[in-house]
Amino acid sequence: MWNKRLGIDLGTATTLIYVYGKGIVLNEPSVVAISKNTNEILAIGREAWEMIGKTPEYIVAHRPLREGVISDYEVTRRMLTYFIQQVCGKSLFKPNVVVCTPSGGTGVEKRAVLDAAYRAGARRAYLIEEPMAAALGAGIDITGSSGSMVIDIGGGTTDIAVLSLGGVVASQSVRVAGDQLDEAITKHLRKKFNLLIGEKTAEVIKIEIGWAVPPKEEKTLKVKGRDLVSGLPKEISLTSSEIYKCLSEQLSSIIEAARSVLEKTPPEIAADIGEKGICLTGGGSLLRGIDEMLSKALGTPVYVAEDPISCVALGAGKVLDYLKLLRDGLLYTKREK
Ligand code: ADP
Ligand code: MG
Repeated sequence: MWNKRLGIDLGTATTLIYVYGKGIVLNEPSVVAISKNTNEILAIGREAWEMIGKTPEYIVAHRPLREGVISDYEVTRRMLTYFIQQVCGKSLFKPNVVVCTPSGGTGVEKRAVLDAAYRAGARRAYLIEEPMAAALGAGIDITGSSGSMVIDIGGGTTDIAVLSLGGVVASQSVRVAGDQLDEAITKHLRKKFNLLIGEKTAEVIKIEIGWAVPPKEEKTLKVKGRDLVSGLPKEISLTSSEIYKCLSEQLSSIIEAARSVLEKTPPEIAADIGEKGICLTGGGSLLRGIDEMLSKALGTPVYVAEDPISCVALGAGKVLDYLKLLRDGLLYTKREK
């Protein structure tokens, strides 16, 4: 019964579902379009994402998990139900699911995720902390005694964790990730050029010409938006160097958080990390030079995982092999505080 076990990466930007025996079968934006007048859900996933920035006033295209927690529980539940149904079809068999939660989440937020999974149709639902899943998906042996460190840079949050012997030794979650980089670009253009751009344009700028270190290759990008003074459409040219400068302040918060996690790490484990390097996962790790930036700032080797966007879902998929252990409470993750 291949469709009975699902590993779900409920991300702030993207939701991925891994089906046991099959691999990743769903990859959709975590976006829901809602009518303001009737509160009705009009579209979910990619279709809703298409509507961002283009909707008439009475429709809001909204990301219910924006900052890594369930900010809008009811909408999240309906989104999750929809995605699970997409994957399971009209099967009468309820799936067992493993869902990833950001490591900084509170007990209440974690319970909300579990509850959402049950109400979305799960027979049994388990939580696994995101850094565990990310590390597993990146091919790191998390059960061994050699410590490792993973930094997952997502849309709304960056999750930093040191793992050893199947547990989280030290961790921190900061609300600085891809979204905040986009916002930094938007603010910069407004201030310097009086130009108003939408959130999708900001993301395109970051992906096309963004750098976390002084650019090794200077690219230019023409960007269209609305002039705040005349109210009319306007086009400007942006360079990689300019975007690099406007991202650096946000990026330094990620460095600070990683440094503070390393400082809390016991010396033996820190030595393991120094040898193996820090693993980066999540879409944000695709920003050019972010590995180099962190490596220089932390004095430790840093590498980007293969297929960083899929790591968490792949890791959740791997955990599906151990459902029995999860059920018996033999495999669980706990945050140390
Ligand atoms: P989440 O787990 O929170 O859903 P993801 O791991 O899917 O987030 O990462 C989404 C973030 O990654 C977005 O902010 C997106 O802009 C960013 N991203 C995706 N590709 C790139 C890229 N090539 N360069 C820089 N950022 C990227
Ligand atoms: Mg994620």
